[in-house]
Amino acid sequence: MKTQNPPFIWLNVFIFASSMLLAVVVAPIYFISHGITAAHWLWLLVTFSFCNLCITAGYHRLWSHRTYQAHWSLRFIFALGGAFALQNSALHWSSDHRVHHRHVDNNDKDPYSAKRGFWFSHIGWMLRHYQSAEVYSDYSNCRDLQKEKIVMWQHKYYVPLALLMNLGVPLLLGIIYQDIIGMLLMIGAVRLVLNHHTTFFINSLAHIWGSQPYTNKNTARDNSVLAVLTFGEGYHNFHHIFENDYRNGIHWWQYDPTKWLIKTCSWLKLTEKLRMTPADKIEKAKALQLLNDTKKKIRHLPNQHDVIEKMHKEYDALISQMTEYYDLKKQLMSTKKQEMMEQYEHAVLKFRYQQMKQHFKQQQLQWLMLMKQYA
Ligand SMILES: [Zn+2]
Ligand SMILES: [Zn+2]
Repeated sequence: MKTQNPPFIWLNVFIFASSMLLAVVVAPIYFISHGITAAHWLWLLVTFSFCNLCITAGYHRLWSHRTYQAHWSLRFIFALGGAFALQNSALHWSSDHRVHHRHVDNNDKDPYSAKRGFWFSHIGWMLRHYQSAEVYSDYSNCRDLQKEKIVMWQHKYYVPLALLMNLGVPLLLGIIYQDIIGMLLMIGAVRLVLNHHTTFFINSLAHIWGSQPYTNKNTARDNSVLAVLTFGEGYHNFHHIFENDYRNGIHWWQYDPTKWLIKTCSWLKLTEKLRMTPADKIEKAKALQLLNDTKKKIRHLPNQHDVIEKMHKEYDALISQMTEYYDLKKQLMSTKKQEMMEQYEHAVLKFRYQQMKQHFKQQQLQWLMLMKQYA
């Protein structure tokens, strides 16, 4: 017997359908007949990037995973950008996302389980009442966020904030550039559709398309094309195994502007306590995954047992060398740090010595002059 689908969430259906219609039908017709300027494109890029970064750096890496700490001013900006991106409040988004990580691919518990197919994980999960009312507003997995004033303020005033950002910003730009309809279409609709679907790709495509260098215990993939579209979130295989890391792309050549933003803000003292997975843990996960992948590939060989035994031996040797190497590296780093501290202390001491020497000489001179006066 076919189970009946839960009823539609009409507000969501309306938002997704109308913004899509405005972006792909009305906007092109309008711009073909009225012309398009550099300002339209520039502000599309600026607002699209702003919203997506507020979701990736704010909603995702800060609030859902606590991978770093941020100054209130930055959190305030993230809260505004999140409302602009129209992806529900940070509290709600983080709660869903924490469940997604905890029960990834579990069709009954993961709110956007990739095992239910592309459509469901991309957008379908938001179109119907799949969650019961109690589950929907259960934020018990976000008690830390419930203590945060900015998060709770955004949650309480989410609707007016979302309206203010989504209508206010395009209207303001429309007044400045004297094209209210054009800006409403470009910054209101086109930007929103781009924000929505690039973010949704992480739940859908990033669980379907790409490589699995760190783990195949879940469906998450690393995909550099998606990383470009999503400001670095495409390295989703790494992210699902090391979710507490503020980076998703760990190599310098990987495109992760969210990581660059968080790091740059740390130099400006706007972020701190950036969490990173120890390099040996990452290397070990990678080696184990490679071993498992290769073992699968040689199943057809007649001497597979011998080959597997050899592989395991090499793997064990690799892990022991790796452990030794990283231990030594840690020691070296700590002695380097100590050396630097000692060098610094030495420099401070030297400076004080020079100062003292000068003071003493002066005092001595004064003393001798006084004595000479009465000699
Ligand atoms: Zn995540
Ligand atoms: Zn995921």
